[in-house]
Amino acid sequence: MDCLFCKIIAGEIPSTKVYEDETVYAFRDISPQAPEHILIIPKLHIPSPAHIDETNSAVIAHIFEVAAKLAKELGFVNGYRMVANCGEDGGQTVGHLHFHMLAGRLLAWPPG
Ligand code: 5GP
Ligand code: ZN
Repeated sequence: MDCLFCKIIAGEIPSTKVYEDETVYAFRDISPQAPEHILIIPKLHIPSPAHIDETNSAVIAHIFEVAAKLAKELGFVNGYRMVANCGEDGGQTVGHLHFHMLAGRLLAWPPG
């Protein structure tokens, strides 16, 4: 499948891995928008948040468990933000579900 993040999971495209297990892969964003910017993705190819359903949603809970664990390990003591962009209006540019984990500075709200 011609999917950038599937290729990253397969190791065909290099990435800076921060975590991996049977169902999840986490790596540093190539264009960080905060001092810490990690992408946490399911190994299963789910195209977007709009494709989450009862057959694949267990991995979403696991992604948030992984995020909480990474926050402790990496020392995100002031907090962090999890963002999943969806579709064109949501600003999604890669068609494989991913959660941005942003930390290390005060993040504006609401987003632009
Ligand atoms: P989106 O815009 O779909 O919410 O997020 C896609 C993210 O993937 C962007 O933050 C972008 O910087 C990141 N990205 C795109 N291509 C690569 C890549 O080849 N390697 C890594 N590590 N991140 C990438
Ligand atoms: Zn994929």
